[in-house]
Amino acid sequence: MENVIIIGSGPAAHTAGIYTARAELKPLVFEGEMAGGVAAGGQLTTTTEVENFPGFPSGISGPELMIKMREQAENCGARILTKTIEKVDLSQHPFRVWTDEREYQASTIIIATGATAKRMGVIGEETYWQRGISACAVCDGALPIFRNKPLVVVGGGDSACEEASFLTKYASEVILVVRRTELRASKVMQDRVKTNPKIRILWNKTLEKAEGEKHLTQVVIRDSETGTMETVPTNGLFYAIGHVPNTAFLGNQVELDATGYIITVPGTTRTSIPGIFACGDVQDKHYRQAITAAGSGCMAALDAEHFLA
Ligand code: FAD
Ligand code: NDP
Repeated sequence: MENVIIIGSGPAAHTAGIYTARAELKPLVFEGEMAGGVAAGGQLTTTTEVENFPGFPSGISGPELMIKMREQAENCGARILTKTIEKVDLSQHPFRVWTDEREYQASTIIIATGATAKRMGVIGEETYWQRGISACAVCDGALPIFRNKPLVVVGGGDSACEEASFLTKYASEVILVVRRTELRASKVMQDRVKTNPKIRILWNKTLEKAEGEKHLTQVVIRDSETGTMETVPTNGLFYAIGHVPNTAFLGNQVELDATGYIITVPGTTRTSIPGIFACGDVQDKHYRQAITAAGSGCMAALDAEHFLA
């Protein structure tokens, strides 16, 4: 039986791996095999440069950063299996988890399975993904290609409003494309975008196409009522239409919020089940950064260590 099983492979999982290995808990990490449609290493494997992770003054590529984190966890003593956890039984001690091949048992489990940003699947999306299209304004907004250019954000929730406001620091203009005639976002966020002179809201519009040459240069949007198509020149297209937390394999055995995120006790990584801890984006729909995921991975390791003691 294992002391600690860690499920996931992003910054949260590998940080938890580093800390639990150094605490001599001999962690077993399941990094997943294209789990949730994302390669082992998590969301950062889908991006190019990461410029906001401390310790890399010239930036580092997302995949390279994840290789280094994995290597560090292994060097500290974490055992990593390239397997996806498909189901769990958290109803009794020891906890049990299954890959497609066999069962494993553990005294504690750290869930660090992250979340996946929703994509729209419009024409041109594959071609211009990371060539103008991004699902993270905070991560990519400061890139030189977006400076003093018109930028488009799609979505009407708090993320879209926050990302639109954030992008006004760099853009000549931010165009917020909203599919209805109202925003879903909280009142305070709505007011912020509606009163920002650099943000123009296009109501009742749906994104149809992304077009360009080497990089994105324009998007085509459609008016939902009239069906009229309009071309909007832009260097950047930012999706802010929500994320899907990777929690389906838990079968509702841990308490989740209405949108499927694991609920943790504020200021800790404790879940509704003693001995089960959650860290990173799977329990955080607010900050969603590599460094915050890593920070909470450290917290989960310390919480698990304390629980076992
Ligand atoms: P994730 O990175 O989400 O990884 C979890 C991984 O665990 C999954 O991807 C999968 O591989 C694995 N997994 C899932 N389910 C299972 C299972 N059942 N069994 C086994 N394994 C499983 N943040 C920054 O700070 N700076 C940036 O520049 C930046 N750029 C980004 C660019 C893009 C395009 C995206 C999408 C995000 C970006 N982010 C950035 C956000 C950052 O990637 C996330 O906040 C961070 O990766 C979350 O880490 P995590 O450890 O919670 O899990
Ligand atoms: P939400 O699910 O709240 O909003 C998603 C938005 O995207 C909605 O406006 C939705 O439209 C729109 N959308 C979804 N699919 C499409 C599509 N295919 N085409 C066009 N538009 C689409 O997600 P968020 O990421 O904004 O927020 C998630 C949670 O995190 C919320 O609880 C939010 O309050 C919280 N949050 C809080 C923040 C803060 O307080 N500062 C910051 C960020 C997030 P429609 O409204 O028509 O459904």
